[in-house]
Order: sequence, then structure tokens, then C-alpha cells
Amino acid sequence: MSLTEIDLHQQLKKYFGFSQFKGLQEEVITSVVKDNDTFVVMPTGGGKSLCYQLPALIADGTAIVVSPLIALMKNQVDAIRGISSEHGVAHVLNSSLNKTEVRQVKEDISNGITKLLYVAPESLTKEDYVDFLKTQKISFLAIDEAHCISEWGHDFRPEYRNLRNIIGRIGDNIPIVALTATATPKVQEDILKNLGITKAKTFKASFNRPNLYYEVRPKTKNVDADIIRFVKQNEGKSGIVYCLSRKKVEELAQTLQVNGISAVPYHAGLEAKTRSRHQDMFLMEEIDVVVATIAFGMGIDKPDVRFVIHHDIPKSIESYYQETGRAGRDGGEGHCLAFYSYKDIEKLEKFMSGKPVAEQEIGHALLQEIVAYAETSISRRKFILHYFGEEFDQETGEGASMDDNVRYPKKQTEAQNEVEL
Ligand code: ADP
Ligand code: MG
Repeated sequence: MSLTEIDLHQQLKKYFGFSQFKGLQEEVITSVVKDNDTFVVMPTGGGKSLCYQLPALIADGTAIVVSPLIALMKNQVDAIRGISSEHGVAHVLNSSLNKTEVRQVKEDISNGITKLLYVAPESLTKEDYVDFLKTQKISFLAIDEAHCISEWGHDFRPEYRNLRNIIGRIGDNIPIVALTATATPKVQEDILKNLGITKAKTFKASFNRPNLYYEVRPKTKNVDADIIRFVKQNEGKSGIVYCLSRKKVEELAQTLQVNGISAVPYHAGLEAKTRSRHQDMFLMEEIDVVVATIAFGMGIDKPDVRFVIHHDIPKSIESYYQETGRAGRDGGEGHCLAFYSYKDIEKLEKFMSGKPVAEQEIGHALLQEIVAYAETSISRRKFILHYFGEEFDQETGEGASMDDNVRYPKKQTEAQNEVEL
């Protein structure tokens, strides 16, 4: 492909109605359009989809998009169909299709109508699909949520490990675009190695969220009362309270209700109907607070979540970053408060004890990092960004004063008092 800058803006407007690229999108798209292997690391909401959708729409042939969740694929296909007059412009290939539907998909690909073909990694291993795809013009292959390749990521999927092999069978020189919101250097290295694209052009956006305030408080037996007080001080604002267990979610939701706070529980043990009702109540602001396990959050796009409280410390910094990332999406205030007790760490260690040794080792290493985060006396923002391999200037960086350690430097004032004495 060869395109000028102006063309890209025109295409952006034409297909998506946007007049500006977001962040690094234009650079990424230029790289993809030039058939480079490309690696994109951008926080959630950064606009990664467009980085492969736009090049796919303007390229010859079909782009294959590997994505782990059928729901995510369906959403994207519907959205793409909405911007094109051609229904077959985007398809999902999965096990739910009958023979006639599969034939139609293949026909649309052969006729050059299909620009985006979404597949789950397990579907891509089907002999029949591989045999068909290797006879077709494939523009590039995009791997969304590419951290699923790595055991160090928060969502490891063994099927993702097999992708390199399958891509090789579909074609020799298919450019690869890998995208993820996981910023840890370990995961990134795994992705590049595993896909054999260590020379890929890499684009990494900053993970700093300057409007989020980070705070850790010791977890005592009064933690529920502490949470009630915090929520009452923030009356009328939307917030999420994360707990480790379903049981605690139920209990705490009730405790909040009894104390006059409009709260509902959310966890995977609830009926699907109840879950979606509670989610809607939160989105429509009929209630203020969702008390939830980590089952709540994927794909929740409420812009004005004002606080995220962790009743229990999560199992990694990565998880903590993702979960707190749901606060302040609109750029406004977002208070991230975690309650920490080393006892909880021991509990998490115990949970892992039945797992394979390699998994335990990884889990243990990740836990040590979250302990270090909870116990640190340096800027929490600096700590998080350092974990992601990013430099942060504590004096001049954006959001530098937005955490408890920087605002109320305990140890230093204690030290100063000693000097004054
Ligand atoms: P990610 O996959 O990185 O989490 P998405 O691709 O889902 O992010 O995009 C997040 C949101 O940003 C979507 O609502 C999308 O429509 C919007 N978006 C993407 N690119 C642009 C742009 N150039 N201008 C305005 N909005 C954009
Ligand atoms: Mg995405």
C-alpha cells in the first residue's frame, strides 16, 4: 500500500466520522499501511481497534483479526457493518456458524468484499479454515489483546501460543499487528518473541493517568466502617468497591445498604439477569455504588466513576492498574483507595498452593510487587509507571502530587520532627 498523510485523514473522516487521530494512531496506522510488523501498547480506551480497522478497510484483501471474546468481536463487526454499505465487509468466523453461513463468509472473502475477518484463536486452528485462508489475499493479521500470549499477563490463553505456527501455515509474509493494554516489559517481550516479531515497529503510549489519586490505607477490623465513611463523604458520586470473594461482595453490599447507601452486588455467581440489571442500574445512575468481584468491569464504559475502592488488595499491580483505570475516564476526579493488610497476601498465596509450580512462582513474584506498592513511601504514580517500564519525573510529571505519599510524606515529617527535637 502507498498512501499520503492527507489520504489517511480523509479515510478516517469517511469511515469513522472523526476529524482527528487519537494519540499515536496516525503513526501506528502509517506503519501498518506500509506492511510493517507493528506492536501497539496503549491503555484501555486509547483507540487500538481503529489502528487495524482503518488499514483493513483501505487495503486490498482481507485482514484477519484474532480476538479472545466472541462478544467483543460481535460488537466490532456490528460497528463496522454500520459504517459500510456492504454487509459482508466484516465477518466473524466461529463454531456457531452453520454450513451455509460459512459458505457465504468464504464467498465474500474470495470476492474481495470482506475487509475484516474476526476469529477466535481456537477457530483459526481448524484445518478447513487454514486451507481456505492460505488461498486468499490476506492484507495482515491483527492480534488484539495480545497479552493473552503471556503467562505473565492477567489473561493467559494457551491457544494464543499456537498462533505463530498457524500464521506460518496461512502465508509466509503476512504482516502482524499485535495490540495490548498490558504495559509490563515481561509481557511485551513474551509477545514479540512468541510471535517472532522482535523487529516490529513498536508504539507505546504513556500509561500515566494524571487525574487519578492513589491512596493506600492499612486494613483493620474496621475496614467496613472506613468504607462507609468514605462513601458517605462522597455522597451522590459513582463508585466501585472491589472484594475478593462473592461472599464478601454480598455482605458488604448489604452493610452499605443498611447504612443508607444505594449499593448493589455484582459477581459471576449471580444470575445473568440480575447481573445485567445491576450493571444497568449503575450505568443509569439509579444507584451509586457497585460492590463487585473482578467479574465487573470488562467493557464497562462509565465515564464518571469517581472512586474505586479495593476492600482486598488485588493479585498484581497490573490488575490494580486495570481496575482503578475505570475511575475518571472523563478526565475528572478519580480516587483510588486500597485497603492493605499482609494477611490478605498470605490468603492469596494460599489460593495458589494447588496450582502448578511454574504458575505459583509467577503468582508469587507478582504478589511481591503489589506488597512493595502497598508498603512504599515513594510516589505511588512513579512506582506504578516504573513497574510498566516508564520514567516519571516526581517534580514535574503530570499528576505528580496526586497520591498520599507525596501529599502527606509521613516518614519524612517524622524524620524532620526528630531533627527538630
Ligand atoms: P481500546 O481498544 O484501546 O481500549 P477502543 O478501540 O475500544 O480502545 O476505542 C475507545 C474509544 O475511542 C471508542 O469509543 C472509539 O470510538 C474512540 N475513538 C477511537 N479513535 C478515535 C478518534 N480518532 N477520535 C475520536 N474517538 C476515537
Ligand atoms: Mg480493545
